[in-house]
Amino acid sequence: MRRPRRAGPETAAPAEPPAGVAPDAIMPDAIVPAAAPVPPGAAAGKPRRVAAKAKRSRYTKAEADALFTRLAEALPEPETELAYTNPFTLLVAVVLSAQATDAGVNRATGPLFAVADTPARMLALGEERVRDFIKTIGLFNTKAKNVVLLSKAIVEQHGGEVPRDRASLEALPGVGRKTANVVLNVAFGEPTIAVDTHIFRVGNRLGLAPGRTPDEVEAALMRIVPERYLRGAHHWLILHGRHVCKARRPLCETCVIYDLCKAADRRVLPHATVAP
Ligand code: SF4
Repeated sequence: MRRPRRAGPETAAPAEPPAGVAPDAIMPDAIVPAAAPVPPGAAAGKPRRVAAKAKRSRYTKAEADALFTRLAEALPEPETELAYTNPFTLLVAVVLSAQATDAGVNRATGPLFAVADTPARMLALGEERVRDFIKTIGLFNTKAKNVVLLSKAIVEQHGGEVPRDRASLEALPGVGRKTANVVLNVAFGEPTIAVDTHIFRVGNRLGLAPGRTPDEVEAALMRIVPERYLRGAHHWLILHGRHVCKARRPLCETCVIYDLCKAADRRVLPHATVAP
């Protein structure tokens, strides 16, 4: 069994957490920002003109490379903050992390994974007992049901092993693109980027990967992040957004990419280098 690791958050969220949810909380796959509103006065029933062109990053490839080099130097081995022991427990932890803090999920999954760390054991445990273990986590009724259903699907359709391809992962109950991206990246080493609330904010604030939806930000990141940094980008951006480039008051004074940052709301610091 692998040594328990700490892993990062995971849930694609479009914007900030809703009222009542901790700032670090993760948004569920199902919650995505609405499409751009219809402009006032637009004729009902007429096809609306949708901007087809993706917004361009404010950074050149060389600038993006410099930015990720800096983040990588500051944190050479980024890890997630969710506790897990194998691909299955990682998958369950990510599913449970929707609208919950990683710390809260870890408190619940410690005892849960001690008795059920495989799909077969989780299935045998049953929905009611899973619910008892996770009742401190938001949406625990739905999550308990999904955890047991996805365990059943893995046992019956995948020989008890977490599938390694996106389509099979996204076909599991309670698993969307963001959760699949986390599992593919963290458990299987694929160069995927799961856009959570922090990555969505950082991508837009810096103009690194502008987009109206998590999918747009993900696509923009896949275009601008240098290939050699794709595997770690998910962690670097989440941790940077969570601990430094915070929603309400970014800590520009301690930011390692201050001189590279092109955020419109970057705070002006005395004697600081001005980004182009
Ligand atoms: S300089 Fe400020 S706004 Fe720019 S990335 Fe750093 S913390 Fe965020």
